[in-house]
Amino acid sequence: LNELDVIRKLSSNLPDAPEEVIVGIGDDCAVIRLGDRDWVAAADMLVSGHHFEMAWSTPEDVGYKAVAVNVSDVAAMGATPRFILVSGGADDSETTLRCMEGVMQACAEFDVFPLGGDTTRAAALTIDVAILGELTAPPVLRSGARPGDLLAVTGELGASAAGLLALQNDHREPERLIQKHLRPEPRTAAGRIAARLRVSAMLDLSDGLATDAKRICEASGVGCRVELEKLPISEDTREICARFDRDAKELAATGGEDYELLISAPEDVVTALSEGLEFPLTVIGSVIEGEGAIFLRNGNPVQNLSGWDHFS
Ligand SMILES: [Mg+2]
Repeated sequence: LNELDVIRKLSSNLPDAPEEVIVGIGDDCAVIRLGDRDWVAAADMLVSGHHFEMAWSTPEDVGYKAVAVNVSDVAAMGATPRFILVSGGADDSETTLRCMEGVMQACAEFDVFPLGGDTTRAAALTIDVAILGELTAPPVLRSGARPGDLLAVTGELGASAAGLLALQNDHREPERLIQKHLRPEPRTAAGRIAARLRVSAMLDLSDGLATDAKRICEASGVGCRVELEKLPISEDTREICARFDRDAKELAATGGEDYELLISAPEDVVTALSEGLEFPLTVIGSVIEGEGAIFLRNGNPVQNLSGWDHFS
């Protein structure tokens, strides 16, 4: 079973949702109405050896990243991160404490309050964060993309994967790319502005553009075309790819863990959003009728691009 099969199996077995549940399983976060306010909720887990290597991640990095990736899911709904619950542990108490120190650093950085959680001895460093975020605009779902929309991404693609590639080859440079991998910067402000501007659909790029673009298409019942030449790839990412004989565009399309936002919106909304940001927003393609994400290189479809599967 791949990750999607597991999620499908679990979601087919759910009880009827109470009326407070506005959006259930299947988006970056669920949406619930409590009193007169709407909240988003999500959880994400990191496991040593699968999601990260202790050889190059400090326990503090792991704790920090566990919070950052959850904040990114909140950002993808257009919400503001507010509270977390955090559970985890390692096979020694010092590593556990250092990991929780990273959690606290991230809480300070993203203005999130830790409500509590649990620690236990575990065979490998494992950390799970559950997050609550507050909505002040209607949530942006994955399902709103419409033919004629443009597809745009915040920031840059492939930097985290390039940092990982460097680490895997025992390089400790470039520092900028390695930090992108170890301590991602979720796009909370951009997500909120996008929600205020009523973009059609949005998600955060966790598993790689090739996989995540397909998710927007499936949820929205549309197709999309993405031009690999348009992907925003930095010079240092290109240099690392050249050094280790990897295709930079392919890495940017499949590498994952960018934690940038993928946004579908009409052209005028994309322009307005771009003007509201302090970093680049790049149009990489468009939404079309049909199904599936088509990736083009010099106008020709590229087959077999795929991102990260959590059960592979
Ligand atoms: Mg997500």
